[in-house]
Amino acid sequence: MTTVDLHTRLADLDARISDAARSAGRDPSELTRIVVTKFHPAALVTQLHGLGVRDVGESRQQELATKRAELPALDGLRWHFVGQIQTKKARAIRAASDCVHSVDRARLADALHAVDPDGAPLDVFLQVNLTDDSGRGGVAPAEVVALAEHVAGTCGSLRVRGVMAVAPLGVEPAAAFAQLADAGAAVRRVVPDATWMSAGMSGDFAEAIAAGATHLRIGSAITGPRPVRD
Ligand SMILES: *Cc1c(COP(=O)(O)O)cnc(C)c1O
Repeated sequence: MTTVDLHTRLADLDARISDAARSAGRDPSELTRIVVTKFHPAALVTQLHGLGVRDVGESRQQELATKRAELPALDGLRWHFVGQIQTKKARAIRAASDCVHSVDRARLADALHAVDPDGAPLDVFLQVNLTDDSGRGGVAPAEVVALAEHVAGTCGSLRVRGVMAVAPLGVEPAAAFAQLADAGAAVRRVVPDATWMSAGMSGDFAEAIAAGATHLRIGSAITGPRPVRD
């Protein structure tokens, strides 16, 4: 995509985000728009950075590592990791991420902490699984408070900032995000400053904003269709 086209898509999307925020009685400046760049070449990240984007998201550890190795340091750029994480990849994820959205089990939190216990605190979201399929990423809604207690109590180098979810297919996004907002409120009873909520993708960000999302993860609405990968 040319930089002009990318700029137009970004501006259009931001206008839609602002409209959705105003309709929900919220201030658009409370929202962090993360551009999900997965499957696109590293050059897209440079192009986005040139347009002022400071938050990008990736969902595969190897791809994140490759892009970071390929790119020079880009001033002020924050890398968000939004994909499933194998526990054995904790070190690589921690080394390459500024924020991890997909902490969904105590063992993973322990591993992320153990690889750098005295390091700069890592911002994390607890991912909640809103489907009936326990094989999907995320902790069951009934267990998220216990996970928050564990992370806050024993993983001193991780900072629990809030909850994250992907709205399941075939469910009203508004209902899914309301459930996520409830999970967030429950987490705040044990970690009062966990005020963030990562929710909303290209097709459902307006519903997420209405439900209280603070961090939007937007891919294709900005980047166009993703190149196909296995
Ligand atoms: C790919 C991805 C997104 C972005 O999805 P779009 O529909 O392209 O906006 C958001 N969140 C997660 C976890 C993803 O894997």
